[in-house]
Amino acid sequence: MARVGPYIVTDTLGQGTFGKVKLAKHSDTGMEYAIKILDKGDIKANELTVNVRREIAIMKALNHKNIVNLREVLSSKSKLYIVMDLVRGGELFDMIERKGELDETLARKYFQQLIDGIDYCHRRGVCHRDLKPENLLVDENGVLKITDFGVSSMKGGVGSDLLYTACGTPYYCAPEIINGAEEGYSGVKIDAWSCGIILYLLLTGVLPFQHDDMTRLYELINACKVPYPSWMGSDAKDLICHLLVKDPEKRFSLEDVKKHSWFLVDYDTGDTPADSGRSFGSGSDRSKSRSRKNSASSAGGG
Ligand code: ATP
Repeated sequence: MARVGPYIVTDTLGQGTFGKVKLAKHSDTGMEYAIKILDKGDIKANELTVNVRREIAIMKALNHKNIVNLREVLSSKSKLYIVMDLVRGGELFDMIERKGELDETLARKYFQQLIDGIDYCHRRGVCHRDLKPENLLVDENGVLKITDFGVSSMKGGVGSDLLYTACGTPYYCAPEIINGAEEGYSGVKIDAWSCGIILYLLLTGVLPFQHDDMTRLYELINACKVPYPSWMGSDAKDLICHLLVKDPEKRFSLEDVKKHSWFLVDYDTGDTPADSGRSFGSGSDRSKSRSRKNSASSAGGG
């Protein structure tokens, strides 16, 4: 047990690249928070400046129900402490590992919240650039919270140049990133690609492109042949098809996603909007993709 300013720091909640995230209790209010502890000695001066300063600046600029809220930043001689609201439910990654694919209604609920949060970021010029289920936390009320803006970029801000550098986790990484900046790409569409991968994972419990050998993995991503399971509903497939498009110019934006018929179903009532003319999808086929055992190998191409 350690003390950091007014906080009593106890259990480890998670481990990141640069340090641990721990549980912290405010000694006056008794309120609990998550505190990311970064050892200044472990971080090279320029990494501290570029990565951590950027992460803090971006988190400070964002205020949305689907984004982890930054409370304050404390500093000692050797450490930096980022105090955030505590998200108790764990990572979406663990949920998928435990349950495999999610029921379509639950998958839609998380996907809608992911898109709401990322759309908010994009409207403020922030590109997350490392979207993956490990960076999506779920609180005790089932509210999804996006975290880890460590490699994010902000238009015109610290790290805006990063829009043109490789980033992220290969499995969730858009083709234009793995192929290098020289091909050029339109910034925020890299998040749209990652959202497509996450949607596929939520619905099937497996990744669309997977290989231990990175060269083969990159080939699979570039070939962009998604192994759709035969049981996947046509509406869900249609949305993924429009997100996992190699050319970022032709890929759906989050604006497009928000108009798609699969996305527009209300997760409380199951209702589709009366104005079907607003949707892009190919008709609802929801019942078929509900809770079916996943098998990407029984897939058709696409
Ligand atoms: P990475 O290596 O992915 O860049 P990082 O060093 O940026 O990681 P985070 O991803 O921010 O660290 O946090 C690491 C882990 O700590 C998360 O995956 C999560 O399990 C836990 N964690 C982070 N923030 C919170 C929070 N606000 N509430 C609860 N747990 C959290």
